[in-house]
Amino acid sequence: MQVSAQKVVFIHYTLTSEEGEVIDSSEGHAPLAYIHGHGNIIPGLENALLGKAAGDKIKVTIPPEDGYGLHDDELIQAVPIDAFHGVDEILPGMQFHTETPEGIQLVTVVKVEGDEVILDGNHPMSGLTLNFDVEVTDVRDATEEELNHGHVHGEGGHHH
Ligand code: ZN
Repeated sequence: MQVSAQKVVFIHYTLTSEEGEVIDSSEGHAPLAYIHGHGNIIPGLENALLGKAAGDKIKVTIPPEDGYGLHDDELIQAVPIDAFHGVDEILPGMQFHTETPEGIQLVTVVKVEGDEVILDGNHPMSGLTLNFDVEVTDVRDATEEELNHGHVHGEGGHHH
């Protein structure tokens, strides 16, 4: 069975930076499972996997535009520290979900300056060219329930 829209695809992957540093890997874990064509994974990887089958191995280099996006300086903003009531200590690298007109956004604390917190709304991997080594381990049809939920159930997916 080949990878196409509405298929559940299981992959083992190693993600490395342009400098060859390993950023993420499924090694030692169950394969990652995703539903093809639902934006579960970055577009560049989804495109590269189209038409592949179990046992296929690919190497693909993905520019930021097809990965986690270009780094946008306008997504860096200062927020009054009062907005973080209930958080004892705010440290660089902490991540929060905030509500924006475009929906829920993940922001990362860059630094604290006086009574302001500098937040970065860019994805931590934005602006990076990503090298993926991927092996397709299985491809199956998605169930109707999985398609309704927009994610995979069972091994490598959601349990609920
Ligand atoms: Zn579900």
